[in-house]
Formats: sequence, structure tokens, C-alpha cells
Amino acid sequence: MDSAAELYTPRDSDDLDRPYWNAAIETMPLDRMRELQLRKLQRQVGYLYAKSALYKSKFDAAGFKPADLRTLDDLARIPFTTKQELRAGQEVHPPFGLHQAAPMEQIVRMTSTAGTTGKPVFQAYTKSDVARRNESICRGLWGFGVRPGDRVINGFALSMFNAGIPFCTAIEHLGAVDVPVGAERRADGLLKVARDVKATVFVGTPSFAAYLAEKAPEILGMEAKELHFRVICGGGESGFELPSFQREMERLWGTKHVYDWASSSDAHPNVFAHCVHRAGKHHLPPDLALVQLIDPATGALKEMGDGVEGEYIFTHLDRQACPLLRYRSGDILRVYTQRCDCGRTGFRMDIIGRSDDMLIIRGLNLFPSAVQSVIGGFMPRLTGKMEIVLRAPGPKVDPPLHVRVECGSGVDLADDESFVAAVEGKISADLGVTAAVEFLPFGTFERTSTKTKLVVIEPSAGGQDK
Ligand SMILES: [Zn+2]
Repeated sequence: MDSAAELYTPRDSDDLDRPYWNAAIETMPLDRMRELQLRKLQRQVGYLYAKSALYKSKFDAAGFKPADLRTLDDLARIPFTTKQELRAGQEVHPPFGLHQAAPMEQIVRMTSTAGTTGKPVFQAYTKSDVARRNESICRGLWGFGVRPGDRVINGFALSMFNAGIPFCTAIEHLGAVDVPVGAERRADGLLKVARDVKATVFVGTPSFAAYLAEKAPEILGMEAKELHFRVICGGGESGFELPSFQREMERLWGTKHVYDWASSSDAHPNVFAHCVHRAGKHHLPPDLALVQLIDPATGALKEMGDGVEGEYIFTHLDRQACPLLRYRSGDILRVYTQRCDCGRTGFRMDIIGRSDDMLIIRGLNLFPSAVQSVIGGFMPRLTGKMEIVLRAPGPKVDPPLHVRVECGSGVDLADDESFVAAVEGKISADLGVTAAVEFLPFGTFERTSTKTKLVVIEPSAGGQDK
């Protein structure tokens, strides 16, 4: 079948009140979606075998031929693809690596990862890949209520970043006004443009959204809510999915429409996003990427059931330039399969941690994001910003867990022993670990538009001896 038919083409006569960008896909019964996925996957493994050096060698090593794929389960016969493989492939076959499957003449765009954990990894896109990215981003933005006429400020970093220019392209595809300010213009530049163009939608990281709200009175002489944004959304780090953070953003920006988004540079067009119910993030493009859960320790597939947790792997179903197959995301999810009130049929999820940032305290698994979630519950007395301080790299940590938190604006809690006890007690009650919480004055943590580190290693830190 022609997969282009699955992409929604906006028209001037479109009903702007319709709840979905692409109703046929977003509400497709799951059994029909599985049939569609299988058909597309069968074609994709043939494409990979013929066009990609990396996948041909992986298939051959596993004794796998494209014709062997008769069910979605047959995919498990092929080994995982990992970030290390992509990196190694880019060393010997720069710039895009051995998994590249489309010739350079068909590639029209590239992005790169930030390289925070090593050398940047590049991604390439054909025109078809760009169209699929636009489609999946529009499904998310439309679900947030973004419509033609909206002025959408992109507050992500624009330079090379996958949420930069590619996101701007999708905003235009949706028919809204793309306002490509970028995090590079910092709070001062962004807030002034927002005021001047009467922006209605902000996309960016949650820490930047919080920082902008904090700086608005100083820069513009007005509260953030007086800018009358209708939608505040984004991702790139933990924040927008936390109910406590959502409430704080609602208060500061004066809108109920605060939504979370999750993806990664390698993953596109595989994205997850809230709907208005914010009951986990929907997997938006099941027709473009197959998502499966595995046990991160054994690699065994796990059944996708309500409340099940596991690392997710994904397989692009028609990505042309840099397709990934059974790619290990490293993200640990909890999935929800009960029907959402919005009517979308796919599963929803929350990211509960990263397989590589999990800490083990006296045999108990702990994700830093879980601590962040508890700390967020104390806003606005605390800003919600925090870091876990380790004397040596994890995962094994001796208690108590040293956590630095930041007091809210105008709040001095350093000597308030009952509040210290309340925060430590809540961590212990909710997470089962003993914590030693250190309170820092408001403004101590750097405000950035890029990702915030939840764990720092300080060999000389004294907190763990307390
Ligand atoms: Zn929903």
C-alpha cells in the first residue's frame, strides 16, 4: 500500500474543531494497526537488507532473511541496535554511519545530538522522513489545541537540535505561525518577541519555561500570565509531566494547557505526547514506529499491558535515511493500555527513568526523576530544582542519599528543622530511602534552556557521611 496515504494533508476547508490531526490513524482499532505495522515492517526489513550495510551484516549474522518475517514477533530474531553501534559506524563511515540506507543525493536535512555523553551523533532525513516528522509533531501539537492562527514561539535551541528547525517546519506544516526565536536569544530576547507578536504557544524545555516566568517581571515589567499564552508545552527533560510542576506553570502562565512531550534525536518520528487529559503520554505514530517493551537486564520482550514497566525499543517502519531497528532507547517506561477519554487507541506512558541512571540503594532501585517528583510536591516553598550528589558513580549508593534542593523566591528554610524533616520524611515514605537534604538559597542552580543534570559526582562532597 502507499504509506503516503497515512499522512494527513491539511486543507483550507479543514474543520478546526476536530479533535485529532489524523483521526484515521489516531483512533484506528489496535488489531488493524498491528496488520498495518506488519505490512510496513515486512517492506522495511527488505529495504534495510538491500540498502544498509549495518543491517545486512546483522541479518546475515543472525541467519535472518527478510522473507522470514511473518509476524511482528519474528523481529525478535534480529539483535538490538545500540547507540554505541551508531557511533562506531559514524567513525568508519562519516558522517551518518553504516546504518545509512538512502544515498546522499536523497538527503535534505541533518540534525545532531547534543553530545552530552560523548561525540555528537548525526541524523539524516530524506524528504519522506521530513514529511513523517511533520506528521507526528502535528499530531501532538493539534492534540494540545494548537491551530492555524496561533503564534508558536520555539524556545528550544535551534542550532542543529532536532527540536529546533525541524520543529519549526512542522509548525508551518500545521498552518500556525512559526516564531523561530530559539533559546539562543535567551530570556530577554524571547520574552520581548513574545510580547510584541502576541505569542499564544510556547514550546521549549520546562526549565526554560520556569525561568521565563521568573524573569518576566524584571524584563517586561509584567507577570508571565499577562502575556496570555494559551499553551505551554515541551520536553527534553523531566518537568512538564510532573503534576506539581504543571500546577506551578498553570499559576505562573495563567493557562490550564501545560503539556509534556517526549522523543529523542535518534527516535524521530517516534514521539509521545500528552492529550488534554494528561494521563500519560500517547504514542502518537504507531504507523511510523513500532514500540516494544523489554526487560532491560535480560533483553526479553515484555507483553504491553496496563501498568507494565520496561525499557522501550523501537523500530522505524518507513524511515529512509537513518532507520533504526530494535533500537535500545534506554528509557524505562510505565505503560497504560486502558482507553483514554480522548478516544486515541494507542498506549500511553510515563518515563520513570533511564536504564543508565538508575541508582541502587540497599538493594532498592531508585530513579533520580522519582526524587525530583517528590521535591516538586513542595513547590512553591522549594523551586523544584534539585540534584543528587554522589561521591562516586552509581549505581550502588550508600545511604543517606544526599539531595540538594533550592528554596523558593523569598523563602529561607535553611534553619527550619521541621521543614527539613518534612522533606526528608516524604522521600523516605514515598521512595523507601533515607535522604539527607541540603537547602540552598533561591537562584543557586544555574538557569539554562538546555537539559538539567539530576545527578552530580563530587568525590569531596560530605553529605553522605552525615
Ligand atoms: Zn488521551
